[in-house]
Amino acid sequence: MYLIRLDDASEYMDVEKWNRIEKLLDRYSIKPIVGVIPNNQDKELVNSYSFDPEFWYKAKSWQEKKWAIALHGYTHVYSTSKGGINPINFQSEFAGVPLEEQKRKISKGIKVFRNYGIETKIFFAPSHTFDHNTLRALKLTSHIRIISDTIANDIYKRKEFHFIPQQSGSVRRLPFKLTTFCYHPNNMNEEDFILLENFFEKHKSEFTCFHKLNFADRKATIYDKFLKKAYFSIRSIRNMFR
Ligand SMILES: [Zn+2]
Repeated sequence: MYLIRLDDASEYMDVEKWNRIEKLLDRYSIKPIVGVIPNNQDKELVNSYSFDPEFWYKAKSWQEKKWAIALHGYTHVYSTSKGGINPINFQSEFAGVPLEEQKRKISKGIKVFRNYGIETKIFFAPSHTFDHNTLRALKLTSHIRIISDTIANDIYKRKEFHFIPQQSGSVRRLPFKLTTFCYHPNNMNEEDFILLENFFEKHKSEFTCFHKLNFADRKATIYDKFLKKAYFSIRSIRNMFR
């Protein structure tokens, strides 16, 4: 099955593109996971888009139509060059940051959400990068026990956390039991929208949503571990030749 994840919703975003993707998803009755930045201070976003005073109403309306809202960091500003336990990139708001600081970020983020009536069960970090202290911080300051970010064939549980795989940045047929396609609507161009719509048209019945996922006590299998190892080995070889 396939899942859609949308990253970087906040008071500073490309409202037109977000409206466009919302309409597209509604047309195919696909409910995404949306990563909301509680206190966006990322200059790339803040300086690119004007402040949207309606944003939190919109987030609330997404929640009402069963889109799953995820806590997507706190400020979305990178302070380390660490990759942590999911080293997709080597920049992070969380990986390598002391536990106390991570706790502070998560509890403040949740407080912002609560102020606007947003509930969340999911976390994913900016740049996909977090570490064991991020999990500790989530455990100590929140009820969040689900992470959308790992390379695997299917959802698995490790210690108290369920990890939802997130393997691709654009739609394509992939052989995994569960695949999350991660999109950044702010950066989508005409072609991205068309390819996405074509894929929905052909594969509509293969899409699921967060509320239908099975959070059983499934441990990561040898196959999941192999996929993760293979993915990051290929990635690091590629980086060597950059
Ligand atoms: Zn982001």
